[in-house]
Amino acid sequence: MTSNQSLFERAQRVIPGGVNSPVRAFRAVGGTPRFIARAQGPYMWDAEGTRYIDYIGSWGPMILGHGHPAVLDAVQKAALDGFSFGAPTEREVELAEEIIRHVPSVEQVRLVSSGTEAGMSAIRLARGATGRSKIVKFEGCYHGHADALLVKAGSGLATFGFPTSAGVPPEVVQHTLVLEYNNLEQIEEVFKTQGDEIACVMIEPIAGNMNFVRAQVPFVKRIAELCQQHGALFVFDEVMTGFRVALGGAQSVYAKLIPGFQPDISVFGKVIGGGMPLAAFGTSRKIMQQLAPLGPVYQAGTLSGNPVATACGLATLKLISQPGFYDTLGAKTQAVVDGLTAAARAAGVPFVGDSQGGMFGFFFTDSLPQNYGVVMATDKDRFNRFFHGMLERGVYLAPALYEAGFVSAAHTDADIAATIAAAHDVMATLHS
Ligand code: PLP
Repeated sequence: MTSNQSLFERAQRVIPGGVNSPVRAFRAVGGTPRFIARAQGPYMWDAEGTRYIDYIGSWGPMILGHGHPAVLDAVQKAALDGFSFGAPTEREVELAEEIIRHVPSVEQVRLVSSGTEAGMSAIRLARGATGRSKIVKFEGCYHGHADALLVKAGSGLATFGFPTSAGVPPEVVQHTLVLEYNNLEQIEEVFKTQGDEIACVMIEPIAGNMNFVRAQVPFVKRIAELCQQHGALFVFDEVMTGFRVALGGAQSVYAKLIPGFQPDISVFGKVIGGGMPLAAFGTSRKIMQQLAPLGPVYQAGTLSGNPVATACGLATLKLISQPGFYDTLGAKTQAVVDGLTAAARAAGVPFVGDSQGGMFGFFFTDSLPQNYGVVMATDKDRFNRFFHGMLERGVYLAPALYEAGFVSAAHTDADIAATIAAAHDVMATLHS
């Protein structure tokens, strides 16, 4: 049998770091990444035949679990009709209609192939629509790897950010302002001094790229007000949260808490493709008219609206829009977080967790962090030991303390009980 280690060595000869996306390399936690051979329902099996309960779900898309029969059927049928045409199809229209039906702030969408593409295009659209260059993002939020978004905060407020990646010239990020998440003073100050130059403010409303940190309600409310006052657009990056934390995404959660709240532009990915390369961005019909072929903002893609990907996304959206789906999913996710918390308490280990719909996070500390700096100061050593202890017991959690976790509809009570039992064992070893 091929081992994970031998595959990793082979992979490293032909693929940088042996992986096609860095977090998969287990660099944050150490050890050998598992090479996945197949997956079904809530489980994945690695190259050595070891089974894991999967709490990554391909980093969010697999909300129904792996290989749901109805989704598989839709994909197989679509594949028989052709893989890609480079011409419009009815299914794209259906998927656009389905997304819009659940997200009232969106009147039109454009389909693309990755969250990166969707985020990058949303920024271009915001800049084109406002005629402004500056964008605001928050430290710890990830919006894909477009050059202008790979930025960390500069040393003082209102200074521009620094590239977080080699290969991104400082000039390319000169229009990107990076502020602390949940910091009201900073956003007030930036709008006071530069509000009329800002094209958009982009946010992960529940940030899953710093584990799980909610934007506080007054923070979201105030950004929306400031954007409106200054003619800037508020962009909700719902690549992770869209159709994951609720059918209407995180914006539906905030709309319940902030009367009348809607973001201006929304970005989707992950769940809307059900595991296939598919993402989207959308807003009002008026702003979307700015896009080519109608308007001056260029955007295109050979595989955009791919017929097999749209079939997968549509079948997924149909199933998750059944009544009660999110109540059940939310209860399962809550049970995971409650169980992990109880295991930590029993072992006397500082621990705190949170969840919304099918997305969760946890930290080895006493209270929920509100920004990136606090997340990164939580106990990494304990996290890493917990991760490996769980992995050894067949539970596959995200291999980095700054990543969120995901529960699917396929996770059974028995899977969750087994996860919690494993957590009791592992937590007991984490006391010191
Ligand atoms: N935005 C958010 C919030 C994400 O979590 C991600 C990916 O994890 C992206 C954008 C980029 O999406 P993709 O990896 O499909 O390019």
